Amino acid sequence: MTTTPPPTTSFALTPEQRAWCAQLRTLGTERLAPLVTEGEAGRVNRTLLRALGELGLLARAVPGAPPWRRVAALDLCLLRESLAYSCPEAETALALQGLGAGPVADVGTAEQRARWLPAVAAGEAVAAFALSEPDAGSDAAALALRAEPEARSRNDMGGTGATGGTGGWRLTGTKTWISNAPWADFYTVFARTGEAPGSRGVTAFLVPADRPGLSGRPLDMLAPHALGTLTFDAVPVTRADRLGEPGAGFRVAMRTLNLFRPSVGAFAVGMAQAALDASLAHAGRRPAFGGVLRDLQAVSHQLAEMATRTEAARLLVYAAACAYDSDEAGGNDVALRAAMAKLLATETAQYVVDAAVQIHGAAALQRGHLLEHLYREVRAPRIYEGASEVQRTLIAKELYKEKEKHKEKPEELYKETNKEARHP
Ligand SMILES: Cc1cc2nc3c(=O)[nH]c(=O)nc-3n(C[C@H](O)[C@H](O)[C@H](O)COP(=O)(O)OP(=O)(O)OC[C@H]3O[C@@H](n4cnc5c(N)ncnc54)[C@H](O)[C@@H]3O)c2cc1C
Repeated sequence: MTTTPPPTTSFALTPEQRAWCAQLRTLGTERLAPLVTEGEAGRVNRTLLRALGELGLLARAVPGAPPWRRVAALDLCLLRESLAYSCPEAETALALQGLGAGPVADVGTAEQRARWLPAVAAGEAVAAFALSEPDAGSDAAALALRAEPEARSRNDMGGTGATGGTGGWRLTGTKTWISNAPWADFYTVFARTGEAPGSRGVTAFLVPADRPGLSGRPLDMLAPHALGTLTFDAVPVTRADRLGEPGAGFRVAMRTLNLFRPSVGAFAVGMAQAALDASLAHAGRRPAFGGVLRDLQAVSHQLAEMATRTEAARLLVYAAACAYDSDEAGGNDVALRAAMAKLLATETAQYVVDAAVQIHGAAALQRGHLLEHLYREVRAPRIYEGASEVQRTLIAKELYKEKEKHKEKPEELYKETNKEARHP
């Protein structure tokens, strides 16, 4: 942690924020959940997206109009947590719009923003974030999708990297596990332009889905999820399609993930809360051994544990989001907090949902039961946007970065730490 003053962290929501969350949960149940059945499982549900746009909810995850204000991380977390509680499909549809459009909002040109962001925020255009590849998942910096300067790929006349040739590139390679693919209207694609090895040789592009050479196929997942593989066969892109500077694409991807990681935690907290509430209700009415399940201490203590861990995860998520929102000077340890929040919340949700299944017994495993659904949904967030092991590595790296900063001056640090003890 830094020695700079701590960020403003909300440990309690305001009455307005609580009322908004309650309203969102009701919207999820009454307005959005009925639309889920209008779509096909594992496909993009455009009816649901348009409803999210009409309700003004997408505009909280994607800036939809000039001046393209930065998305508020805490708003995003409250939205995702509340929708996850009552309509996880709507939650996921909303989050994916934000993730896919994030790089456009961050570094897009005026033309790119005007063309795509209002349509994404209205639920009229579908966005996707294409980083992962068959041989580059956790090690995203190893991505291999090539962006070759036009002149070089046509007749090998040579180009000079990202700015060489005719000023355009051809994209060749494969992206996989891409949410909303192959149905999205555009993809933010991270490709190797080769300014430097590893993460420094990556450039981001905005690729409309109708570009020649771009094709895709859906993948069938444990929990129905609009997701697929994309094949790029010399797909043409121009300077106007570039997102940000050549060689700066990996930083664009990481900034988007820093915003979204705490909100993946919020999604997990929403699911955990739904599992907990179902368990409280069930244990309070299920007859057992002359009483009800909650009368058994083993069960009531399990409920207490589930509630405590869920609340701890929620607070870490809110703190990470507040740190992001108030990070004017860059001293809030945003990456560290985002990783901690995502790690704790997704692992906690897995534990809570599993414990809820145990409390419900066989009924929870019947197809169509809330917990059967949550049991399948809760697994993926421990893998995507950085697996739990990757978050731990990231956290440890950030902790040592802080230590390195103070290495030069251990005495000052000692004096600083002991100031209060010596001068009460
Ligand atoms: C539902 C879902 C939606 C997704 N949506 C998108 C999307 O929209 N866009 C996108 O680009 N990608 C998306 N992904 C892909 C996701 O980001 C990758 O699955 C993730 O980065 C992990 O990569 P991998 O699956 O190739 O696993 P691998 O990288 O092969 O890792 C497998 C396992 O190895 C271990 N491991 C890996 N690295 C380390 C390490 N450094 N230290 C310790 N252990 C390690 C972990 O246990 C990890 O789970 C999605 C995935 C899922 C499941």
